[in-house]
Amino acid sequence: MSKVWFITGCSTGFGRNLAKEVLLKGYRAVVTSRKKEDVEDITANYPETALALQLDVTKPDQIAASVAAAVAHFGTIDVLVNNAGIGYFGAIEESEEAEVRKMFEINVFGLANVTTAVLPIMRKQRSGHILNVASIGGLVSFPAVGFYNATKYAVDGLSESLAKEVAHLGIKVTIIAPSGFRTDWAGRSAKNSAIVIDDYAASAHQNKNSIRGYSGNQPGDPERAAKAIIKAVESENPPLRLLLGAAALKNARLKLDQLKNDFDTWADTTVGADFPAE
Ligand code: NAP
Repeated sequence: MSKVWFITGCSTGFGRNLAKEVLLKGYRAVVTSRKKEDVEDITANYPETALALQLDVTKPDQIAASVAAAVAHFGTIDVLVNNAGIGYFGAIEESEEAEVRKMFEINVFGLANVTTAVLPIMRKQRSGHILNVASIGGLVSFPAVGFYNATKYAVDGLSESLAKEVAHLGIKVTIIAPSGFRTDWAGRSAKNSAIVIDDYAASAHQNKNSIRGYSGNQPGDPERAAKAIIKAVESENPPLRLLLGAAALKNARLKLDQLKNDFDTWADTTVGADFPAE
Protein backbone atom coordinates (compact mmCIF):
# COMPACT_ATOMS: atom_id res chain seq x y z
CA MET A 1 0.00 0.00 0.00
CA SER A 2 1.20 3.50 -0.73
CA LYS A 3 2.15 5.86 2.08
CA VAL A 4 -0.54 8.02 3.68
CA TRP A 5 0.20 11.77 3.81
CA PHE A 6 -1.64 14.18 6.10
CA ILE A 7 -1.21 17.83 5.04
CA THR A 8 -2.46 21.00 6.75
CA GLY A 9 -3.42 24.26 5.01
CA CYS A 10 -4.21 22.90 1.54
CA SER A 11 -6.57 25.62 0.25
CA THR A 12 -3.79 27.52 -1.57
CA GLY A 13 0.00 27.74 -1.94
CA PHE A 14 2.43 25.03 -0.85
CA GLY A 15 -0.27 22.84 0.71
CA ARG A 16 -2.47 22.81 -2.39
CA ASN A 17 0.47 22.12 -4.72
CA LEU A 18 1.86 19.40 -2.48
CA ALA A 19 -1.52 17.67 -2.10
CA LYS A 20 -1.99 17.62 -5.87
CA GLU A 21 1.53 16.34 -6.53
CA VAL A 22 1.36 13.66 -3.84
CA LEU A 23 -1.93 12.32 -5.24
CA LEU A 24 -0.61 12.50 -8.81
CA LYS A 25 2.33 10.31 -7.71
CA GLY A 26 -0.06 7.66 -6.42
CA TYR A 27 0.22 8.25 -2.70
CA ARG A 28 -2.82 8.39 -0.44
CA ALA A 29 -3.49 11.79 1.11
CA VAL A 30 -5.60 13.44 3.78
CA VAL A 31 -6.04 16.91 2.38
CA THR A 32 -7.07 19.34 5.10
CA SER A 33 -8.22 22.93 5.12
CA ARG A 34 -10.12 25.32 7.36
CA LYS A 35 -12.93 25.07 4.82
CA LYS A 36 -13.33 21.55 3.45
CA GLU A 37 -14.93 22.86 0.25
CA ASP A 38 -11.66 24.66 -0.57
CA VAL A 39 -9.93 21.32 -1.21
CA GLU A 40 -12.75 19.17 -2.57
CA ASP A 41 -11.76 20.01 -6.15
CA ILE A 42 -8.38 18.36 -5.43
CA THR A 43 -9.77 15.21 -3.80
CA ALA A 44 -12.70 14.77 -6.26
CA ASN A 45 -10.31 13.32 -8.85
CA TYR A 46 -9.01 10.67 -6.43
CA PRO A 47 -12.02 8.99 -4.77
CA GLU A 48 -9.94 5.96 -3.69
CA THR A 49 -6.79 7.68 -2.46
CA ALA A 50 -7.83 11.12 -1.21
CA LEU A 51 -9.80 12.30 1.77
CA ALA A 52 -10.80 15.95 2.28
CA LEU A 53 -11.19 17.02 5.89
CA GLN A 54 -11.86 20.23 7.75
CA LEU A 55 -8.97 21.29 9.99
CA ASP A 56 -8.31 24.60 11.67
CA VAL A 57 -5.04 23.88 13.49
CA THR A 58 -6.00 26.22 16.35
CA LYS A 59 -9.02 24.01 17.21
CA PRO A 60 -8.03 20.99 19.36
CA ASP A 61 -11.37 19.23 18.71
CA GLN A 62 -10.79 19.47 14.94
CA ILE A 63 -7.24 18.15 15.32
CA ALA A 64 -8.45 15.10 17.28
CA ALA A 65 -11.38 14.51 14.90
CA SER A 66 -9.33 14.83 11.70
CA VAL A 67 -6.52 12.56 12.89
CA ALA A 68 -9.10 9.97 14.04
CA ALA A 69 -10.96 10.23 10.71
CA ALA A 70 -7.69 9.82 8.79
CA VAL A 71 -6.83 6.64 10.69
CA ALA A 72 -10.39 5.29 10.39
CA HIS A 73 -10.27 5.85 6.62
CA PHE A 74 -6.71 4.84 5.67
CA GLY A 75 -5.55 2.89 8.72
CA THR A 76 -2.53 5.08 9.47
CA ILE A 77 -0.57 8.28 8.82
CA ASP A 78 2.97 7.89 7.42
CA VAL A 79 3.90 11.46 6.46
CA LEU A 80 2.68 14.52 8.33
CA VAL A 81 3.20 17.91 6.69
CA ASN A 82 2.60 20.83 9.06
CA ASN A 83 2.23 23.48 6.40
CA ALA A 84 -0.52 25.84 7.64
CA GLY A 85 0.87 29.23 8.59
CA ILE A 86 0.35 32.96 8.26
CA GLY A 87 2.49 36.09 8.15
CA TYR A 88 2.28 39.45 9.91
CA PHE A 89 4.07 42.68 9.02
CA GLY A 90 5.19 45.31 11.51
CA ALA A 91 8.35 46.48 13.25
CA ILE A 92 8.69 44.85 16.67
CA GLU A 93 7.62 48.09 18.36
CA GLU A 94 4.61 48.44 16.03
CA SER A 95 3.36 44.88 16.45
CA GLU A 96 0.01 44.28 18.15
CA GLU A 97 0.13 41.62 20.85
CA ALA A 98 -3.25 40.09 19.95
CA GLU A 99 -2.19 39.62 16.31
CA VAL A 100 1.19 38.22 17.33
CA ARG A 101 -0.45 35.73 19.69
CA LYS A 102 -2.87 34.70 16.94
CA MET A 103 0.08 34.01 14.62
CA PHE A 104 1.86 31.98 17.32
CA GLU A 105 -1.36 29.96 17.85
CA ILE A 106 -1.32 28.92 14.18
CA ASN A 107 2.38 28.76 13.29
CA VAL A 108 3.69 27.25 16.54
CA PHE A 109 1.03 25.82 18.87
CA GLY A 110 -1.18 24.57 16.03
CA LEU A 111 1.81 22.80 14.46
CA ALA A 112 2.86 21.35 17.83
CA ASN A 113 -0.65 20.12 18.63
CA VAL A 114 -1.12 18.40 15.26
CA THR A 115 2.30 16.80 15.75
CA THR A 116 1.51 15.44 19.21
CA ALA A 117 -1.83 14.10 17.92
CA VAL A 118 -0.06 12.14 15.16
CA LEU A 119 3.03 10.98 17.09
CA PRO A 120 1.29 8.07 18.93
CA ILE A 121 0.37 6.56 15.54
CA MET A 122 3.94 6.87 14.24
CA ARG A 123 5.45 5.62 17.52
CA LYS A 124 3.20 2.58 17.42
CA GLN A 125 4.21 1.67 13.86
CA ARG A 126 7.86 2.62 14.54
CA SER A 127 7.99 4.68 11.36
CA GLY A 128 6.93 8.02 9.98
CA HIS A 129 8.17 11.34 8.66
CA ILE A 130 7.17 14.74 10.02
CA LEU A 131 7.79 17.75 7.80
CA ASN A 132 7.45 21.13 9.45
CA VAL A 133 7.23 24.12 7.15
CA ALA A 134 9.32 26.82 8.76
CA SER A 135 11.03 29.41 6.54
CA ILE A 136 14.43 30.87 5.70
CA GLY A 137 12.97 33.41 8.16
CA GLY A 138 13.41 30.66 10.78
CA LEU A 139 17.19 30.85 10.32
CA VAL A 140 17.73 34.48 9.34
CA SER A 141 15.68 37.45 10.57
CA PHE A 142 14.53 40.44 8.56
CA PRO A 143 13.02 43.84 9.45
CA ALA A 144 9.17 44.05 9.56
CA VAL A 145 8.74 40.32 10.16
CA GLY A 146 10.45 39.91 13.54
CA PHE A 147 7.52 38.18 15.22
CA TYR A 148 6.93 35.99 12.15
CA ASN A 149 10.65 35.13 12.35
CA ALA A 150 10.17 34.28 16.03
CA THR A 151 7.39 31.80 15.17
CA LYS A 152 9.59 30.12 12.57
CA TYR A 153 12.66 29.98 14.86
CA ALA A 154 10.32 28.29 17.33
CA VAL A 155 9.33 25.76 14.66
CA ASP A 156 13.00 25.16 13.82
CA GLY A 157 13.93 24.75 17.48
CA LEU A 158 11.17 22.35 18.40
CA SER A 159 11.67 20.34 15.22
CA GLU A 160 15.41 19.88 15.88
CA SER A 161 14.61 18.70 19.40
CA LEU A 162 11.85 16.41 18.15
CA ALA A 163 14.22 14.87 15.59
CA LYS A 164 16.56 13.86 18.44
CA GLU A 165 13.68 12.51 20.54
CA VAL A 166 12.13 10.28 17.88
CA ALA A 167 15.02 9.10 15.66
CA HIS A 168 15.38 5.84 17.62
CA LEU A 169 11.65 5.21 17.16
CA GLY A 170 12.04 5.18 13.37
CA ILE A 171 10.50 8.64 12.92
CA LYS A 172 12.21 11.25 10.75
CA VAL A 173 11.83 15.02 10.98
CA THR A 174 12.53 17.54 8.23
CA ILE A 175 12.32 21.31 8.52
CA ILE A 176 11.32 22.97 5.24
CA ALA A 177 12.86 26.44 4.90
CA PRO A 178 11.68 28.28 1.78
CA SER A 179 12.54 31.77 0.61
CA GLY A 180 9.94 33.76 -1.39
CA PHE A 181 7.46 31.57 -3.26
CA ARG A 182 4.44 32.52 -5.36
CA THR A 183 1.67 31.67 -2.90
CA ASP A 184 -0.89 33.77 -1.00
CA TRP A 185 1.50 34.20 1.97
CA ALA A 186 2.60 37.81 1.25
CA GLY A 187 -0.86 38.70 -0.08
CA ARG A 188 -4.19 37.83 1.51
CA SER A 189 -2.75 35.56 4.24
CA ALA A 190 -0.75 38.26 6.05
CA LYS A 191 -1.88 41.35 7.96
CA ASN A 192 -0.10 44.66 8.42
CA SER A 193 0.11 46.15 11.88
CA ALA A 194 -2.34 49.02 12.32
CA ILE A 195 0.34 50.90 14.27
CA VAL A 196 2.75 52.89 12.11
CA ILE A 197 5.80 54.67 13.59
CA ASP A 198 7.51 56.89 11.02
CA ASP A 199 10.98 56.22 12.44
CA TYR A 200 10.78 52.72 10.92
CA ALA A 201 10.40 54.03 7.35
CA ALA A 202 13.97 53.19 6.36
CA SER A 203 14.03 49.69 7.86
CA ALA A 204 10.80 47.83 8.60
CA HIS A 205 8.51 49.78 6.27
CA GLN A 206 10.91 49.50 3.39
CA ASN A 207 11.15 45.72 3.77
CA LYS A 208 7.39 45.35 4.30
CA ASN A 209 6.73 47.29 1.07
CA SER A 210 9.32 45.29 -0.79
CA ILE A 211 7.92 41.89 0.34
CA ARG A 212 4.31 42.97 -0.21
CA GLY A 213 5.28 44.57 -3.53
CA TYR A 214 6.69 41.40 -5.03
CA SER A 215 3.78 39.19 -3.98
CA GLY A 216 2.85 37.24 -7.09
CA ASN A 217 6.30 37.71 -8.63
CA GLN A 218 8.46 35.75 -6.17
CA PRO A 219 11.08 33.53 -7.83
CA GLY A 220 9.94 30.40 -5.96
CA ASP A 221 7.60 28.00 -7.81
CA PRO A 222 5.33 26.09 -5.37
CA GLU A 223 4.88 23.23 -7.84
CA ARG A 224 8.64 22.66 -7.97
CA ALA A 225 8.73 23.01 -4.19
CA ALA A 226 6.16 20.22 -3.92
CA LYS A 227 8.35 17.96 -6.07
CA ALA A 228 11.39 18.81 -3.93
CA ILE A 229 9.52 17.95 -0.72
CA ILE A 230 8.43 14.60 -2.15
CA LYS A 231 12.03 13.91 -3.23
CA ALA A 232 13.19 14.50 0.36
CA VAL A 233 10.54 12.13 1.73
CA GLU A 234 11.50 9.46 -0.82
CA SER A 235 15.21 9.80 -0.06
CA GLU A 236 17.09 7.24 2.07
CA ASN A 237 18.63 10.02 4.12
CA PRO A 238 16.32 13.02 4.25
CA PRO A 239 17.91 16.24 5.55
CA LEU A 240 16.99 17.78 8.89
CA ARG A 241 16.72 21.09 7.04
CA LEU A 242 15.67 21.44 3.41
CA LEU A 243 16.19 24.94 2.02
CA LEU A 244 13.99 25.83 -0.95
CA GLY A 245 14.89 28.65 -3.34
CA ALA A 246 18.17 30.31 -4.32
CA ALA A 247 17.56 33.21 -1.91
CA ALA A 248 17.18 30.74 0.97
CA LEU A 249 20.57 29.20 0.14
CA LYS A 250 22.24 32.61 -0.22
CA ASN A 251 20.85 33.95 3.07
CA ALA A 252 21.58 30.74 4.98
CA ARG A 253 25.21 30.82 3.79
CA LEU A 254 25.54 34.49 4.82
CA LYS A 255 24.18 33.59 8.25
CA LEU A 256 26.66 30.71 8.57
CA ASP A 257 29.55 33.09 7.78
CA GLN A 258 28.22 35.64 10.27
CA LEU A 259 27.86 33.00 13.02
CA LYS A 260 31.34 31.64 12.34
CA ASN A 261 32.85 35.11 12.40
CA ASP A 262 31.24 35.99 15.75
CA PHE A 263 32.10 32.61 17.31
CA ASP A 264 35.73 32.67 16.11
CA THR A 265 36.38 36.35 16.94
CA TRP A 266 35.10 35.90 20.49
CA ALA A 267 36.32 32.31 21.06
CA ASP A 268 38.82 33.19 23.83
CA THR A 269 36.25 35.26 25.73
CA THR A 270 33.69 32.51 25.28
CA VAL A 271 35.94 29.75 26.66
CA GLY A 272 37.25 32.12 29.34
CA ALA A 273 33.80 32.29 30.93
CA ASP A 274 34.17 28.71 32.29
CA PHE A 275 35.90 27.99 35.64
CA PRO A 276 39.61 27.43 34.98
CA ALA A 277 40.40 23.75 34.31
CA GLU A 278 41.62 22.00 37.49
P1 NAP B 1 -0.78 30.54 1.60
O1 NAP B 1 -1.04 30.32 0.15
O2 NAP B 1 -1.30 31.78 2.22
O3 NAP B 1 -1.28 29.26 2.39
C1 NAP B 1 -1.43 29.26 3.77
C2 NAP B 1 -2.36 28.13 4.16
O4 NAP B 1 -2.45 28.10 5.60
C3 NAP B 1 -3.79 28.33 3.62
O5 NAP B 1 -4.27 27.09 3.21
C4 NAP B 1 -4.54 28.81 4.86
O6 NAP B 1 -5.91 28.47 4.86
C5 NAP B 1 -3.83 27.99 5.92
N1 NAP B 1 -4.16 28.44 7.27
C6 NAP B 1 -4.11 29.67 7.81
N2 NAP B 1 -4.56 29.65 9.08
C7 NAP B 1 -4.90 28.36 9.35
C8 NAP B 1 -5.44 27.67 10.47
N3 NAP B 1 -5.73 28.30 11.61
N4 NAP B 1 -5.66 26.33 10.37
C9 NAP B 1 -5.38 25.66 9.23
N5 NAP B 1 -4.92 26.25 8.13
C10 NAP B 1 -4.67 27.58 8.19
O7 NAP B 1 0.80 30.60 1.86
P2 NAP B 1 1.94 29.47 1.75
O8 NAP B 1 3.16 30.19 1.34
O9 NAP B 1 1.50 28.32 0.94
O10 NAP B 1 2.10 29.08 3.28
C11 NAP B 1 2.37 27.76 3.69
C12 NAP B 1 3.50 27.78 4.69
O11 NAP B 1 4.71 28.19 4.05
C13 NAP B 1 3.31 28.73 5.86
O12 NAP B 1 3.68 28.07 7.06
C14 NAP B 1 4.28 29.87 5.54
O13 NAP B 1 4.70 30.54 6.70
C15 NAP B 1 5.39 29.09 4.87
N6 NAP B 1 6.32 29.88 4.06
C16 NAP B 1 5.92 30.51 2.94
C17 NAP B 1 6.85 31.20 2.17
C18 NAP B 1 6.45 31.89 0.90
O14 NAP B 1 7.20 32.72 0.40
N7 NAP B 1 5.32 31.59 0.33
C19 NAP B 1 8.19 31.26 2.55
C20 NAP B 1 8.58 30.61 3.72
C21 NAP B 1 7.64 29.91 4.46
P3 NAP B 1 -7.10 29.53 4.52
O15 NAP B 1 -7.25 29.52 3.05
O16 NAP B 1 -8.29 28.97 5.24
O17 NAP B 1 -6.67 30.87 5.04
